[in-house]
Amino acid sequence: MLTVEEALEQILLRVEPLSVERVDVLAALGRVLAEPIVSRAVIPPWPNSSMDGYAVRAGDTGRVPVELAVVGKIIAGTLPSRPLRPGEAMRIFTGAPMPEGADAVVPQEDVAADGERVTITGRVPPGAFVRPAGEDVRAGDVVVQPGGGIGAAEVGLLATLGYSQVRVFRRPRVAILSTGNELADLGTEPGPGQIPNTNTYSLMAQVIEAGAEPVNLGVVPDQLEAITERLHWGLTAADVLVTSAGVSVGELDLVRDALERCGAALHLWKVSMRPGKPITFGTRAGRPVFGLPGNPVSAMVTFELFVRPALRKMAGAQAVHRPRLRVRALETIENPGSRRGYLRVTLTPDANGYGARLTGDQGSAILRSMVLADGLAVVAPDTTIAGGQAVDVIVLRSLEPRSH
Ligand code: AMP
Ligand code: MG
Repeated sequence: MLTVEEALEQILLRVEPLSVERVDVLAALGRVLAEPIVSRAVIPPWPNSSMDGYAVRAGDTGRVPVELAVVGKIIAGTLPSRPLRPGEAMRIFTGAPMPEGADAVVPQEDVAADGERVTITGRVPPGAFVRPAGEDVRAGDVVVQPGGGIGAAEVGLLATLGYSQVRVFRRPRVAILSTGNELADLGTEPGPGQIPNTNTYSLMAQVIEAGAEPVNLGVVPDQLEAITERLHWGLTAADVLVTSAGVSVGELDLVRDALERCGAALHLWKVSMRPGKPITFGTRAGRPVFGLPGNPVSAMVTFELFVRPALRKMAGAQAVHRPRLRVRALETIENPGSRRGYLRVTLTPDANGYGARLTGDQGSAILRSMVLADGLAVVAPDTTIAGGQAVDVIVLRSLEPRSH
């Protein structure tokens, strides 16, 4: 049996970033940049005031109090009418360009002024309340590297630099197929012995959260022909194929067979982890295919550990892994058995960071344990972590306070 790291290495060495496309700057949100963004501009383009006040020559305030003649007014969006000479000040507002000769700003709350003259009582150091030209970005700076994710701040910076469009990696299209005689899809009443189809929806949602696009292949019964046919279709419609259930050793576990019939070469099967274990990964004409286990928690956790990093790499990201935090266990966290555990935990802020507590029963069919989970505690085989000891947690969501 492979370790999680060995399996992931096998997967990542077989997937590559997708092609590149140009999109509008706002549509780039959540995508990965495919070109370095090099600034053609200096930002800010000229020194400007960071306060409402008076532009002065710092040298004029060597002996205070001093009275200066107010010889002009510069509002944001205009240029100073002339340079500032010794003994003079100009009224200036936040963001307005500094007049030539001025090298400091005195905030209006620190002066006495009558419109024509301004009295300054404290010495003003050169550069005070002045934002120098280029303090944010200089021409030629690489401001965003290729392979980096584009968030709201990047969108703002790109717009500032005049980029109305940028080159980003295409989002992977991911086809999801749920298999199982027992499944009743959303919108149909489960018949006798049937259960609702969970995995199609949780997996499609995980695909979206990973920055990719889901394609719903629906549900097929445990029949080799039916599975094979639907997989064929999925392989033409998508960049990645993900199936749920039917990858174990039961006589109705036909997904591996069907994948091979579709021409996929399978590279791995069992991984030493809990929940999970039976997971299949293969490729067909360069396209990755994943067979995930059917239990809803196992499907989600194996997606997290194997499919998500592959999708991030295909989406062009340099960093494909979720963040990990080393936190304090708030109770005993036990992982009996010979496989590494990925246990659902809540994370609560405390004085020294975060504390982790199990979400309750860790059964792989208990989806509520995923709903409650902020992260997955990674626990070695046959290991008990006592309350107060450190534990590594893969963080699955933003740690905003929640109501449940
Ligand atoms: P299997 O891998 O086919 O043995 O399925 C393992 C367990 O997951 C069984 O209890 C299945 O009923 C359940 N299961 C399989 N597919 C789904 C699904 N799409 N939604 C919810 N539960 C499922
Ligand atoms: Mg089954």
